[in-house]
Amino acid sequence: MKTAVFESFNDVVRELRSRRFRRVVLQAPDGMRNRLVRLSRVVQEAGVEVVAIDGDRCFGACDLPICAVRFLGADAVVHLGHTPYPLRVELGIPVYYIPCYDRVSIPRALVRRLADELASGRPAIFYPIQYYPAFREMLREACREAEVDEEQAGEMASVLIGCDSATVRRLGRHADSVIVIGSGLFHGLGAAVWSGRRTIVLDLYRGEAVDVERERRRVLAIIAERIERFSQAKRVGVIAILKSGQFNLEAALSVKGEAERMGKEAHLITMTDVTPEKLDYLLDFEAFVQTGCPRISIDDLESFSRPVINLEQFQISAGRMRFEDVYP
Ligand code: SF4
Repeated sequence: MKTAVFESFNDVVRELRSRRFRRVVLQAPDGMRNRLVRLSRVVQEAGVEVVAIDGDRCFGACDLPICAVRFLGADAVVHLGHTPYPLRVELGIPVYYIPCYDRVSIPRALVRRLADELASGRPAIFYPIQYYPAFREMLREACREAEVDEEQAGEMASVLIGCDSATVRRLGRHADSVIVIGSGLFHGLGAAVWSGRRTIVLDLYRGEAVDVERERRRVLAIIAERIERFSQAKRVGVIAILKSGQFNLEAALSVKGEAERMGKEAHLITMTDVTPEKLDYLLDFEAFVQTGCPRISIDDLESFSRPVINLEQFQISAGRMRFEDVYP
């Protein structure tokens, strides 16, 4: 299966035509789905049939429209808003990605804050893909202001998706602090819990620098409590998530075996989205391990009445890793 990234609607349409695709499914994350009607027009005007706009919830590029593709017999997917994510379930057809960049005006105060961090130490800098142009502009201006080498500062920078703990750990290890350019706390919280470094979100929409430390401590306390409650549980559900990039049967079966060796009764459960409403019907279980998106067990913990831990948290519960190794 071919995967490719395109910068514009017209580029992707040229590819669809040149490869003689006839039936495509369009997909975008929730906040960008309204752009799909325009994309659909562009594709159809070029003579390629849009068999459907996928209307299901989509949290990331890990969540391709498997059912729509199979049920409708599509021969390609165009996914708006993300870059490729490793697939665990083959769709058997090409997926074309168009990342979308947010064109925001950069608040001067945030450039100054970045310049201060660059002048006083070596920050790791992360940004979600939609803020790549904003990151480039801020880095250029902040380096000029702080009189530091832009190329060197750029070596400590990376695009970031919410589950990329490996990149956070790799750069965080060598950093004095972590700066996340974006909006909201989602990417900042991930960077904070996995790096253990003082983390500041430069929120482009609020125009504010937000220190994530208090939220990091609060969330880590909840995680520790949930792991402890999971450890006490006698009957647990091991959830394999039915998404293209999250399905991990091998891990789920391995966790199930390990939980049984820990003296628990364990059952394999399948689910597309892990929600409190769905778990409410699974009353026989005292706790769950979900083997897909690690962020479900970091950001959403308080919405679940029972522990729903992720793979790294299960490793802690099983005594294979120490809490401080996973969350320094
Ligand atoms: S696994 Fe979670 S954090 Fe990673 S891309 Fe999917 S939804 Fe986002």
